[in-house]
Amino acid sequence: MKNTTYFNGKVILVVGLAKSGLAAGKLLHKLGAEVIVNDYKPLAENPQALELQELGIEVICGGHPLEIMDRKFDLVVKNPGIPYSNPLIQKALEKGISVVTEIEIASIISEAEMIAITGSNGKTTTTTLIYEMLKESKRVPLLAGNIGTVSCEVAENATAENILVTEVSSFQLMGTREFHPKIAVFLNLFDAHLDYHGTRNDYGLAKAKIFENLTSVDFCVVNEDDLEVMMLSEKALGTKVLFSVKKKVENGAYIENNCIYFQNEEIISLEKVVLPGAHNLENILAAICAAKLAGATTSQIVEVLSTFAGVKHRTQFVTEINDRKFYNDSKATNMLATKVAITAFTQPVILLAGGLDRGNEFDELIPDLKKLKGIVLYGETAPKLERAAVKAGLTFIKIVNNVTEAVNLAYQYSESGDVILLSPACASWDQFKTFEERGETFIEAVYKLAK
Ligand code: ADP
Repeated sequence: MKNTTYFNGKVILVVGLAKSGLAAGKLLHKLGAEVIVNDYKPLAENPQALELQELGIEVICGGHPLEIMDRKFDLVVKNPGIPYSNPLIQKALEKGISVVTEIEIASIISEAEMIAITGSNGKTTTTTLIYEMLKESKRVPLLAGNIGTVSCEVAENATAENILVTEVSSFQLMGTREFHPKIAVFLNLFDAHLDYHGTRNDYGLAKAKIFENLTSVDFCVVNEDDLEVMMLSEKALGTKVLFSVKKKVENGAYIENNCIYFQNEEIISLEKVVLPGAHNLENILAAICAAKLAGATTSQIVEVLSTFAGVKHRTQFVTEINDRKFYNDSKATNMLATKVAITAFTQPVILLAGGLDRGNEFDELIPDLKKLKGIVLYGETAPKLERAAVKAGLTFIKIVNNVTEAVNLAYQYSESGDVILLSPACASWDQFKTFEERGETFIEAVYKLAK
């Protein structure tokens, strides 16, 4: 750890527990801060709060009483999911108290340098690729953040012999002041989370905070094909390393003659890359840039790209039954992700979709639905998706009760060479607890069918 006295003696309020609040509370307590924790869940149902209380930390549970702010705090550490409109957070800001997220603490205390990855889509895939690519390099990579262990917990135990590989969301980046990665990767920007950020401009600016503290010895890896991302990186001080799936870029990763290149070095031919889809090609190029800058060998990069079949629930290849390939893209909880997944395939696709109704129609998907061989729908949005599928002119449109029935019906209708793709375009909460549970149900149904 570095800066071990930074938080000593400070009075710090941790708002919102979950994994990151728990880890931050424990670490700050250990570093000599006076920690007070506030969580909306009542104490009796809150094992994390009880754990902190046992350590001697004061916990205030069952709501966010405004009187907490009558006390003097040096810092507020907020769970990324809590909006800035929360009255307690508002009051802290009015009083001029700095409100940060847990990645800020990780960055301050980490002896290991950090690769941080942001973007609207592709963060988890790119983060995983970078981590895998660095496995054989001199510095041992550590996954920190949304995937893996909470960042500040990883940072606490990391040394200069490590490198942290960390996915960071706009929610997390909003709460940063000194956050300082060595390599900052910005993949793309689409409309997302506008309920939280208000406008697309504010959303972009939140993400661009990834570059805020870079210096001339740092690097920013930026998508040359995304104008907005390029503009948001304009003022960044680090060396720019670009990637593009459309054209050759001097100082970065690109495609030429069906091969991937990094700074004029041929890395791998496209036909050897296992991960499907044009969107993943962007993630791969970004990952190569970051991994190369951090010391990955070409042979390890080639090894990863010729074996890695995708992160679970993200256009993940499941299995093949009688020449039909099954893919699980349960993470596709919005139309954009489903568009991307449909576009990833050249074979005929039977799509399984549907889920929580957020009130929107699906007309935006019509151009992509036109490419399908058929569609099987379930969940709250089935009738709305059916309307869009009819407008797209599909002839095979079926509504069933659940994902398992959808798998069976799609298989009955399929022919040799087809792809059966779960990419729901909706959140899962009408029928499942999480998108992971939905994906597991799909995988289970596929394996049952295989038997
Ligand atoms: P995130 O962590 O940012 O949510 P994931 O890697 O988990 O991203 O991918 C989620 C979904 O987003 C994928 O299933 C895919 O449909 C879509 N996606 C992934 N990468 C990209 C990309 N580079 N551009 C557009 N869409 C993408």
